[in-house]
Parts: sequence; C-alpha cells; structure tokens
Amino acid sequence: MTHEYDYAVIGGGLSGLLIATALSQETERVVLLDGQEHVGGFNRTISFPTGNVENGIRFVPATDAAQSSLRFLENLLGIQVVKSIQEIPPITYEGGQLKTFLSFGDVTPPFFDEMVYFTNSTRCELNLQPSAWVQLLIEKFRGQIMTLFATRFQIANNQVQSLTLNGSKNTAG
Ligand SMILES: Cc1cc2nc3c(=O)[nH]c(=O)nc-3n(C[C@H](O)[C@H](O)[C@H](O)COP(=O)(O)OP(=O)(O)OC[C@H]3O[C@@H](n4cnc5c(N)ncnc54)[C@H](O)[C@@H]3O)c2cc1C
Repeated sequence: MTHEYDYAVIGGGLSGLLIATALSQETERVVLLDGQEHVGGFNRTISFPTGNVENGIRFVPATDAAQSSLRFLENLLGIQVVKSIQEIPPITYEGGQLKTFLSFGDVTPPFFDEMVYFTNSTRCELNLQPSAWVQLLIEKFRGQIMTLFATRFQIANNQVQSLTLNGSKNTAG
C-alpha cells in the first residue's frame, strides 16, 4: 500500500511534535515518525512506586528566543502557556552555604555553554507542565503518527532521496 505525504517529521519529541502539528494545520498529509511507542520524547510524566515525576523541561529562561518559541506554541494551541516572568537570581553553593551566583569568574568551565542557559536570572513561570503541552499538541495534530525508527537517509543534491525505516523499509523522498 502506498501513502503519500507532503511532510515527514522524524522524531516526535516536543520539537518534532510542535513542527508537525503546525504543518498539519496547513495540510493533513503530515506523518510524524518516532522510534518509541509514545511521542513527547523526554517531556512526559514518569510513574514511580513513590509517585509521578514530570520529566523534562522545568526551567525556561525568559530569553527572547525562549519567549518567541513559547509564543509560537501559545498561538498554535490558543492558550496562555506563560503565566508570568519571574526574577529569581541563580544560587550557588560555596563555603558551606548557598549564595547568589554572580559569575564563573576568570576561568570559564568547559560546560559553560550548557550551564549559562540555567544561570539566567529571569524565568518564565508556566501555566501548564510541558507534558500537558504534549497532550494538547497530540489533540491538535491532524496528521498521522507512526512508530518507526529512521535508520538511514539517502541524500543527493541537498534533498532526501530515500529513507530507511526500522532498518529495512525504503521510502522514496
Ligand atoms: C531530566 C531532564 C530535565 C531537563 N530539564 C530541562 C529544563 O529545565 N529546561 C530545559 O529547557 N530543558 C530541559 N531538559 C532538556 C529538554 O527536555 C530537551 O532539550 C527537550 O525535551 C528536547 O526536545 P526534543 O524534541 O528536541 O528532543 P527529545 O525530547 O529528545 O525527543 C526526540 C524524539 O525523537 C525520537 N527519535 C530520535 N531519533 C529517532 C529516529 N532516528 N527515528 C525516529 N525517532 C527518533 C526519540 O524517540 C524521541 O521521542 C531536560 C531534560 C531532561 C532529560
């Protein structure tokens, strides 16, 4: 059986699901492929014997980029995701006590690029957990979700010519 799609989005984490849902408002011929049984990637509720834990995004710095992404999500879902912007300076543990974090000083650690994201003193307080965004995006998504793992892309002239799924099936690009 042949299926034709206008778009195939590989990976149904928050990023892929967001893109696929936005595309599916234009055309329903969108397929979202994820190697796992569930979409949402890292952002999901995980059940432990001691209770549920919200895995994934908890801290969103109030940077222009983050706020622009959240506005895109808000427009797509038609809900207010950001409750408020809060000023909460980051803290550090030094000399046996917690203190306001000022800077890394003269010696920039090798993981600076990853850390600096979390040292922002303004953050977006959220109305809903990211796992709830995932559920709302799934409800809004008008395309098809398939549990398939993309194992190989064949690219020529900057275009995907074919895609190997689950190690065997070839899909014309
Ligand atoms: C414990 C934890 C806490 C975090 N805290 C924060 C935080 O406070 N603030 C913050 O900004 N970020 C945080 N993050 C990071 C944040 O969760 C990730 O940056 C974000 O979820 C990435 O989303 P994504 O959609 O890009 O990728 P993912 O969530 O990784 O999703 C990728 C999806 O693609 C699928 N996939 C991958 N390869 C293939 C393939 N070849 N074929 C088919 N499917 C494929 C995977 O199955 C997965 O579902 C945290 C992450 C963790 C784990």
